[in-house]
Amino acid sequence: MIPVSEPLLGERALTYVQEAVNSGWVSSDGRFITEFERLWAEYCGVRHGVAVCNGTIALEVAVQALGLEPGSEIIMPSLTIISCALAVIEAGCVPVLVDCEPDSWCMDMAQVAAKITPRTRAIMPVHMYGHPVDMAPLLELAERHGLAIVEDAAEAHGAEYHGRRAGGLGTLGCFSFYANKIITTGEGGMVVTDDDALAERMRSLRNLCFRRDRRFLHTELGHNYRMTNLQAAIGVAQVEQIEDHLQRKRRMAALYQDRLGDLPLSLPVERPGVRNVYWMYGVVLDDSVPFDAVEFARRLRSRGVDTRPFFLGMHEQPVLHDRGLFVDERYPVTERLARRGLYLPSGLPLTEEQIDTVAVAVREVLS
Ligand SMILES: *Cc1c(COP(=O)(O)O)cnc(C)c1O
Repeated sequence: MIPVSEPLLGERALTYVQEAVNSGWVSSDGRFITEFERLWAEYCGVRHGVAVCNGTIALEVAVQALGLEPGSEIIMPSLTIISCALAVIEAGCVPVLVDCEPDSWCMDMAQVAAKITPRTRAIMPVHMYGHPVDMAPLLELAERHGLAIVEDAAEAHGAEYHGRRAGGLGTLGCFSFYANKIITTGEGGMVVTDDDALAERMRSLRNLCFRRDRRFLHTELGHNYRMTNLQAAIGVAQVEQIEDHLQRKRRMAALYQDRLGDLPLSLPVERPGVRNVYWMYGVVLDDSVPFDAVEFARRLRSRGVDTRPFFLGMHEQPVLHDRGLFVDERYPVTERLARRGLYLPSGLPLTEEQIDTVAVAVREVLS
């Protein structure tokens, strides 16, 4: 079976983890934590990085740091992971959805303005499968209405929008370092920002809201969301090799594009002015194909090719309907992508030979 994703962990990761173990700093203090935060913030072109235990928590901490009054609305795409809606709900806010674009799979900018109300306080763009959201109109809207932007860049490490890196474009940028992401720490996440006050607040929120002036005196409740120095040691090694990871992803995309371009599928796009990092190589079945993505996945699996379906829209989630959210709302592009899209093996160690095997299987299934 060709796996859908695999990380690439070099010797350097082991050396750094060994150093962390030898130093005795195995919890959340230690040189690798500060080094990882500094390196990643710098890579994103901003001043602060706040490491946390995973990407979902990065989103939660980012939204909480904004200190929004309960009932504030946050606009986000319908096609995304539940983590986005969760972060909004946990902060006592209300998620408001917009559909996505049929080609970039990112939130449709043309629909955002119509969803802004007097209660809107923030927008949460998600850079889907490595393609940056069209940020210029979003930044302009945010500026005009005084809204914060919380980027979910969990799938877009190193992606660029007009020369600026994803995660460094908004008020706050959130990353995941889960094993299938472009760089990994096993489990892990980070929020990056240029805002001193927000960074300070997030450092407090991730660490039980201990006060600097008097430890064990609490004026706010916070959780333990800390990342360990062991994870950060792997993170530092991963940042050092990110250019190689990005080249591998772009080469994978070029090979798939070459092998699959004539089939009844939509392939990932790269809009002018952006650098897609092809986190996962998604494909969407044309309407002429007489089966859906579930059947497509089944047939590929029987040929030794593992895949994963696209996200299912937030407006189709029973757990959110139970909370009175999105009942009877329809987002046709999201619904179509959820039923006709899946992603092909996209692991960092994937060889050209494996890509050829996948392409042959896809061709067989579609002919
Ligand atoms: C992976 C992912 C997350 C969540 O990250 P975890 O580290 O798994 O919690 C959030 N948003 C998006 C878009 C993701 O792909």
